[in-house]
Amino acid sequence: MTICALLIEDNPGDARLIREVLREADAGHGAVELRHADHLTRGLEQLAGEGVDVVLLDLSLPDSQGLATFVAVRAAAPTVPVVVLSGLDDEGIAVRAVQEGAQDYLVKGKVDGGTILRSMRYAIERGRVEAARRDLERQRDEFFSSVSHDLRTPVAAIKAAIGVVLANEPAEMPSGLHRLLGNVDLAADELAGLIEDLLQIARLRAGRVEVWRSEVDLRDVISRAVRAIEPLLATRAQRLEMSLPEQRVEASVDAEKIGRVLRNLLGNPQKYGREGGKIGVILERQPDAVCISVTDDGPGIPPEEHDRIFERFYRVSESSSAGPMGSGLGLAIARGLVELQGGRLWVESARGAGSTFRFSLPIR
Ligand code: ADP
Repeated sequence: MTICALLIEDNPGDARLIREVLREADAGHGAVELRHADHLTRGLEQLAGEGVDVVLLDLSLPDSQGLATFVAVRAAAPTVPVVVLSGLDDEGIAVRAVQEGAQDYLVKGKVDGGTILRSMRYAIERGRVEAARRDLERQRDEFFSSVSHDLRTPVAAIKAAIGVVLANEPAEMPSGLHRLLGNVDLAADELAGLIEDLLQIARLRAGRVEVWRSEVDLRDVISRAVRAIEPLLATRAQRLEMSLPEQRVEASVDAEKIGRVLRNLLGNPQKYGREGGKIGVILERQPDAVCISVTDDGPGIPPEEHDRIFERFYRVSESSSAGPMGSGLGLAIARGLVELQGGRLWVESARGAGSTFRFSLPIR
């Protein structure tokens, strides 16, 4: 298969050299068709047309310098792999380009045609694997989304039916049967919650969640979330302490979504925290942001898990086996909803030292 490579390089000597070493390495097999542009703008024009398999990119061009050159190429053709060509003096920037998603970098004058050819082939192959992975992820998201959608109606029907049965339960119903009916009711609630989580994460990933801002006092939003979780805290003899400022803390936020974030962050220590433990909620006002933290004195989370717990479906194995089943979606949803409002959510924790989940929201 012939590779169509676009060389974006302004130095005529370098361009000629690359063409020659590639021709030598190719030895008449016609494996590479080399196109050439000597300005970024011309390169981008060529990229806009079809057919370029890989870009060989010099970062220092008359109309663009450094990392910005790579960023522009990436933005114009996100799926075309890029191999950066650097001089000795800008190798550092080339490495950064690789960190930003370039497939490889080669130092000009230090590589022969065979190396360039191999680097381009690998880049194209890795690009293909990456595209296939993205496609699989998209299919998985669509599958979850459509299955969840289809499950909503039957679960709602079960919930409604069990409600009617419970409301009309005869007085002489045996206690065993009564308990089973209660279990069905709870299971229907759990299933409905899981389906809502799956739909929410699918909507977040597809960028289909809208933010409805209104001016609220954040102390009220927190108090409401705490009231919702209080009955559950009692089941594990946990105490909750709130520390809220005396003054109103006005912010323009989507209160419903912040409530959901808080219910997720409070639900976790309720599940994974210590029996009889303490959960703290603190609201602080900073000059241009508000910060809300939820602290517990539970088992803590080792640092190597701090990023992963925010991935969807990820659960820490130790806490999972001890506690009730969760979906591993709560923190992914919470982070998605906070970031949607321009905020940040992170964890501070160590094994055995409790956890603090903190999020900040800019005040507009
Ligand atoms: P879920 O609770 O449904 O499993 P989450 O996304 O809310 O999913 O949490 C991911 C994982 O992070 C949990 O499975 C648990 O292992 C860990 N985790 C979250 N919060 C805490 C906490 N406060 N203390 C200890 N572990 C926690």
